[in-house]
Amino acid sequence: MFRKILIANRGEIACRVMRTARRMGVKTVAVYSDADAKALHVAMADEAVHIGPSPVSESYLRAEKIIEAALATGAEAIHPGYGFLSENPDFVDKVTAAGLVFIGPSAASIRAMGLKDAAKALMEKAGVPVVPGYHGDTQALVLLATKAREIGYPVLIKARAGGGGKGMRRVDRPDDFADALAGAKREAKSAFGDDHVLIEKYVDKPRHIEVQVFGDNLGNAVHLFERDCSAQRRHQKVIEEAPAPGMTPELRAAMTDAAVKAAKAIRYSGAGTIEFIVDSSKGLKADRFWFMEMNTRLQVEHPVTEMVTGVDLVEWQLRVAAGEQLPKSQEEIRLNGHAFEARLYAEDAAKGFLPATGTLHHLKFPAAPPGGNVRVETGVRAGDAISPYYDPMIAKLVAHGPDRASALALLVDTLETTEVAGSVTNLAFLAALAGDADFAAGDVDTGLIGRKQDSLTALPAPDPEIVAAAVLAASGLDRRVPSNDPWSALAGYAHFHPVAQRMKLRFGDQDILTAVTVEGGIAKVSVEATAPLPVEGRVRPKAGGGVAAAGSNASLQALQRGNDESHTAAAPPSVGFADVSPSRGERRLAKWPGHITIFNGAVGYDFAVPDPLDRADETEAAGSMRAPMPGLVKLVRAGRGDVVKKGQPLLILEAMKMEHTIAATHDGEIAEIASEGSQVTDGTVLVRFVETA
Ligand code: ADP
Ligand code: ADP
Ligand code: MG
Repeated sequence: MFRKILIANRGEIACRVMRTARRMGVKTVAVYSDADAKALHVAMADEAVHIGPSPVSESYLRAEKIIEAALATGAEAIHPGYGFLSENPDFVDKVTAAGLVFIGPSAASIRAMGLKDAAKALMEKAGVPVVPGYHGDTQALVLLATKAREIGYPVLIKARAGGGGKGMRRVDRPDDFADALAGAKREAKSAFGDDHVLIEKYVDKPRHIEVQVFGDNLGNAVHLFERDCSAQRRHQKVIEEAPAPGMTPELRAAMTDAAVKAAKAIRYSGAGTIEFIVDSSKGLKADRFWFMEMNTRLQVEHPVTEMVTGVDLVEWQLRVAAGEQLPKSQEEIRLNGHAFEARLYAEDAAKGFLPATGTLHHLKFPAAPPGGNVRVETGVRAGDAISPYYDPMIAKLVAHGPDRASALALLVDTLETTEVAGSVTNLAFLAALAGDADFAAGDVDTGLIGRKQDSLTALPAPDPEIVAAAVLAASGLDRRVPSNDPWSALAGYAHFHPVAQRMKLRFGDQDILTAVTVEGGIAKVSVEATAPLPVEGRVRPKAGGGVAAAGSNASLQALQRGNDESHTAAAPPSVGFADVSPSRGERRLAKWPGHITIFNGAVGYDFAVPDPLDRADETEAAGSMRAPMPGLVKLVRAGRGDVVKKGQPLLILEAMKMEHTIAATHDGEIAEIASEGSQVTDGTVLVRFVETA
């Protein structure tokens, strides 16, 4: 076994690899960029080497720097994690040429599977069913459009060099083909430097089922059963599980046979995944699955396989790379129970899963219950930042149970006891998905999230108790020790005259005016809306009025201590009541600069507490649109003087390796618009509208 290895990656996967290495007595070397100087993976490693500035092209993708670091520290092998250099055969060649071991497959295997078109041709030859479509060399628009018509709509245009769901466009009608092709090619060119595409039949009611394979250098290859990754948004996995729900013995036998055949066809060594697309429109049928691609590396979702097989895949990677035989034969690999993995990201699900950045001021994961059936894989700690340079993943939450229902219940529990504040996250969306009836029934195809996107991503409005809890926390009253003595419980407040403390909170783009009154040791919270009240729907609006009316005194009173019946009686008919007495149990909340986050299940309600002295953030001009994140202005579709309609695409911002269409937030005439090719930072004005009187 190696004595020391270098991990050429960051984040959770670097930490994950180090954990196994440590258990095996193997020393670890981390590499890091400027942005990661204080990152968890650096702190965890035995040694760490700085390799450059924050952008990946200047750090984690610099093969020479990384190899130099390995040689300088005396590491014998390099583990690439996933992403970055993990599927780069030139890197493997360089590692090998430097006399080091690459913990992964041979450069030849990676090359064979690297381009989706060549891989499909190879698999066809090996007798593995491939998705019907065109994967030839000619790229002329006319020919591709003709092929698409022959294949039959809907079709999927795919970048042959693609990965992570990028460079992919579903096309439903011939009229849309040319535009979609241009978009796919543009995205592929910038993400992979190769705009070659293939066209596939878009499979009906598609399910993504993949098989984990493992080979060694002695010619053995096994599978470790399947994972279902059908819960996807924009062709990216959201929740994965093993085994696949509803899997039949016939389909499993056919898929795992095909996967092992594929691995053997390229004399595969190490961990790999054969991804298949399955037509589930008539149930799971053994002749309705096709090869999509092979990922020649450890997969993000490998923990679900580990949970159901009891195998540490990273340990196997190290053993195989060190020349050992596969630790288990096919017969010794058994399925045990069911496991789920949910990917927790800093992203705004309601805004089309827009990646987000921010400092994780508060980060709390559930304490793992005994028995090891919950696993939290993370590369960040409270106080760490999600930067725009890398994938905005915060953690992977993994749950295992004896059957699917219990594993899912444990996953929901895990999601509902996780707390993140400081950046928007997809936590509530994950919980909504995990709690969805179709998902719970195992009726999941890759279109499920898209069909239910609005309901899955809608943030439930905070009920009055939550608003009141935020107000109390913002005023500091939640900190008072509950006591029978009103003098000590609410010291500092007069008890003879009610003292009102006025405060403004902001929830999303809504202002909430509140007042806390302390009288006789009881704090009452009243809420006045100046904008549509978030509590709408819960609190009945005044007759004829509606809570949206400016100045309407809709809302609620919250009693901090005791239950004062007289308030209930005195309340106007439309007023909602909330008892936030501390005796009802502690609210889970986080206070961070300028904000209060109240946790309720998997939902984190973020209330901004604007500094009354700072007027700047209150008067955000309605006449401008700002960049939601740092990026590159890729394409500008409107110019000064253009009159545009709300929803009209104005420009494309490329950020975090994805293209984001920025559409007009309202009707208006453009006064100014960012120029094509300009680099913008978070908050830069992209579009300024002509002010209307
Ligand atoms: P695929 O989408 O290629 O089938 P996965 O779902 O396993 O496979 O996603 C792998 C993707 O994760 C990579 O293609 C890459 O875009 C992204 N990635 C790369 N490095 C990291 C990292 N350190 N942390 C999180 N994500 C990463
Ligand atoms: P990537 O390298 O980006 O992971 P894949 O070829 O694995 O690309 O496809 C990503 C996802 O797109 C799949 O998981 C699946 O949901 C969807 N997909 C791919 N091919 C098809 C197809 N022919 N029909 C329907 N959906 C598909
Ligand atoms: Mg894939």
